[in-house]
Amino acid sequence: MEIKTTVTVIGGGANGLFTTLDLALREIDVILVERGDIGSGTSGKFHGLLHSGARYAVNDPESAMECIQENKIISTIAPHAVKDTGGLFLGITKEDLEFSDPFMKSLEKVGIDHKVLDLKEVMQKEPYVNRNAKIAIWVPDKVVLGYDLLASVSITASLHKAKIMTYNEVVEFVKENNSIRGVKVIDRINNETNFIKSDIVINAAGPWAFKIVKMAGIEEIPILPTAGIMVVFDKRLNNSVLNRLRPPSDGDIIVPYSDSSILGTTATIVEDIDNFTISEEDINMLIDEGSYLIPYLKNLKPVRAYASVRPLMKTSESGREASRDFTIIDHEKDGVSGLISIIGGKFTTARLVGERVSDLVSNKLGNKSHSKTSKTRLISPLDIDLLSYAEKIGLPKVLIMNALGRKGSLDEERYNTSLYLLLSLISRAKKHEI
Ligand SMILES: Cc1cc2nc3c(=O)[nH]c(=O)nc-3n(C[C@H](O)[C@H](O)[C@H](O)COP(=O)(O)OP(=O)(O)OC[C@H]3O[C@@H](n4cnc5c(N)ncnc54)[C@H](O)[C@@H]3O)c2cc1C
Repeated sequence: MEIKTTVTVIGGGANGLFTTLDLALREIDVILVERGDIGSGTSGKFHGLLHSGARYAVNDPESAMECIQENKIISTIAPHAVKDTGGLFLGITKEDLEFSDPFMKSLEKVGIDHKVLDLKEVMQKEPYVNRNAKIAIWVPDKVVLGYDLLASVSITASLHKAKIMTYNEVVEFVKENNSIRGVKVIDRINNETNFIKSDIVINAAGPWAFKIVKMAGIEEIPILPTAGIMVVFDKRLNNSVLNRLRPPSDGDIIVPYSDSSILGTTATIVEDIDNFTISEEDINMLIDEGSYLIPYLKNLKPVRAYASVRPLMKTSESGREASRDFTIIDHEKDGVSGLISIIGGKFTTARLVGERVSDLVSNKLGNKSHSKTSKTRLISPLDIDLLSYAEKIGLPKVLIMNALGRKGSLDEERYNTSLYLLLSLISRAKKHEI
């Protein structure tokens, strides 16, 4: 099958989805291709923190400024996917206390609200927090329900005529001399080959971005694939996001995510991004560090651990020191036109990435449109009339009826998950136009 569009986006993570939404809202024809399901890369395996930017205020102020701006925007456009828990930076050791002065000065400079809290009140609200904490500083950290946000971006984009094709893996570029003219994809469900012809291709493949540029004959991009591990406890131990008052390090954040607490994380540069392990040693090290924040962690057995890879910009040889900011590369500079790569960023700043990439694309296309994503309320899967939506996209109604049947049942909590799985079938639907 051959399909024509204006822009092809590779990768259904946070960056690719927000780019697709931004372009669709500008009425630019766009198709997103993802080799797995939406959020099957790093965006489905992150820590769940909608950063206030406080963590980066001292060492990475540019990224901190982007985080606080986006923290406010995401909370406004997708309130259903955000839990306003607040965050605490806890100073426990002498070194932590020495960090409080530069920390608060940097928060001031970047423009992040903060407040030193009364420790007695903190201990009442957070009974598991280390009683030896000497200072607690509140910042506007929040929790973001990752899959809810990604599903909402996908639905809103497809309602604005974007096509989202999951289980379609890019295996080659369509090239004319030194110009990229589209991609060859394999539909992994039907084992069919499709060609998507377009004027511009966006490489939003996250940590796999370097593999994509290689297909275009570009040897290197400045990316530092850095793995991080998270450990999950089957108990909500804290109400606010807890952070250690020190420069970013291992095991210094605990995120309250639904009924669980997620402790993270590490930052190890990996050679093979599809093949790395989580060792018992890593888990124990994280628990040792995390128990400075919540000593009770040592009495608990984690229920699971997971890991993923950050597609960091290579601004340093160390994963901890590399900036959390992002960069957009127009490969015309490498002698290949029609290809743009996104490197870096955070889940929190993906909307901004989409805006900046779409500005560049619009400029190249001679389109004078502006980004609308900061003011467009995202549609939650729970907000739409699923039956008529199914009909519009050619999805069998019986599938939606089955999912809806779980509402009000013993397994209502699983209802959302089944809905999301169902929505991933959108790409398998006969019609894409709505
Ligand atoms: C351990 C850890 C914890 C983190 N915690 C946070 C946090 O709490 N808050 C925060 O804001 N950020 C956090 N981040 C950062 C954030 O998760 C990432 O910056 C973000 O998810 C990256 O999104 P992305 O779209 O660039 O990449 P991805 O989500 O990885 O998306 C890339 C997609 O491309 C697809 N793909 C690859 N190759 C192909 C191909 N050939 N054809 C088609 N598709 C392809 C992949 O399947 C994947 O789905 C964390 C990162 C890590 C590693």
